[in-house]
Amino acid sequence: MMMNLLSECTQRQLEDLTALIAGIRRDWQTPGIKAALIRIGEQKPDATLADTAAAALRAAGDNGARNPAAMTFEAYWTRPAPTQAQRLEQAELCEICMQPEHMHAAIAYRDHEYMKPGTYQPMTPQETA
Ligand SMILES: [Zn+2]
Repeated sequence: MMMNLLSECTQRQLEDLTALIAGIRRDWQTPGIKAALIRIGEQKPDATLADTAAAALRAAGDNGARNPAAMTFEAYWTRPAPTQAQRLEQAELCEICMQPEHMHAAIAYRDHEYMKPGTYQPMTPQETA
């Protein structure tokens, strides 16, 4: 009997993932792939199916990974660092000029201070009068 924490639902997905990886790595034996994935389920009970699939595919896509046990290696579980473009996308932008805060400081804006997202409130006619 398998002594792991995988649910019945995940068992079917486990078979699918095993088949996908076996299709990518014809030099890896299917039972070995499945055993390695089950080991991941035991060693990383908090890992989501997406985390497991991503790490398994990174290992399978690496020609230097010689056997399915490589899927358990920490190197394949490390997410790549975000690119500069992704960091800029995630940065909070000024409500008025849509510049990130660090850019705001670099550029000499004279008409307004950096406005945190969600804090901009248009003035009412009474206030502008
Ligand atoms: Zn601004």
